[in-house]
Amino acid sequence: MSSPQNNSKKTKAAQARLPRRPRSLAARREQARAITDRLALLYPDAHCALLFRNPFQLLVATVLSAQTTDVRVNSVTPELFRRYPDPEAMAGAAREDLEEILHPLGFFRAKAKSCHGLAAALCDRFGGEVPASLEELVTLPGVGRKTANVVLGNSFGIPGITVDTHVGRLSRRWGWTRQADPVKAERDIAALLPPEIWTQTCHRIIDHGRKVCHSRKPACIGCGLADLCPSYELFVGVPAPALPGPMPGASMQETEETSKKETQESRG
Ligand code: SF4
Repeated sequence: MSSPQNNSKKTKAAQARLPRRPRSLAARREQARAITDRLALLYPDAHCALLFRNPFQLLVATVLSAQTTDVRVNSVTPELFRRYPDPEAMAGAAREDLEEILHPLGFFRAKAKSCHGLAAALCDRFGGEVPASLEELVTLPGVGRKTANVVLGNSFGIPGITVDTHVGRLSRRWGWTRQADPVKAERDIAALLPPEIWTQTCHRIIDHGRKVCHSRKPACIGCGLADLCPSYELFVGVPAPALPGPMPGASMQETEETSKKETQESRG
C-alpha cells in the first residue's frame, strides 16, 4: 500500500511529465475528438461563468477577473454596470467611485485604473463600441489574447480558444500540446479541434479543470475521462480502466474549494 508521501511524489512526478501521444496529426485529432465528445456529455451546459449583457460588460468583467474568482467579479459588476453602463460613462467616472465599487476584488486601485483606461480607449479609438476582431481587441489596454478570445467567442459568436490556466494544463495532460506558452498552446489546440467547437469546448475544459482535474491533485480515479486520458497512468500508476468511472460527486465540496484556491493563485 502506498504512503501519502509516495502518492505526493507520484503526483509531482506526473505533473512534470508529459504523456505519450500519437505521432500523426490525424490520430491526435481522433483522440482529441473522443475527449471533446465525452466532455460534451459530461458538461452539456457549460457556459461563461461571468455575468454580462453586452460585449462591453463582458470585456470589463473579463479584465476584472484577473487574480480573483468569477463569483467575486459577479458580486460587484451589477452595481458597476448600473452606474456606468457604457464606455463613455465609465471613462467619466471618478476614480475613487470606481475604487469603492471594485474594493472587494482586491488590487482595486489597479483595477479601477484599468477600467478607466479601457473605457477611454474604446471612446477615443472605437467610437464607444467594442471591436469584434482579435487584432483590434488586443490593442486595448489590459486586453491580451485570452481576454480577446473570451469576448469574441461569447459576445460575437466568433470561435476563440481561451488558454487560461485550466485549458493550458489539461491540454498538456491530454497531449494536445507540449507548450507552456499560451499563444503556442492555442495554435496547437486550434490544429486539433474544428473551430465551431472552440468556444464551448473551452468552457467544458474549464469546468473539468475546476471540478476534477485539479492542478495539484487531479481526481483521476472516478474521472469521467479516465479511459481516454493519456495522463491517467502517469498519475495513478496503473493503466486506465476500460470504461469511465462516475464523476466524483462525493468529493465535490472539496474539489470546489480546491478549485477556488487554485483559481485565485493562478489567474493573472
Ligand atoms: S484522468 Fe481525468 S483527472 Fe486524471 S489527468 Fe486525466 S483528465 Fe485529469
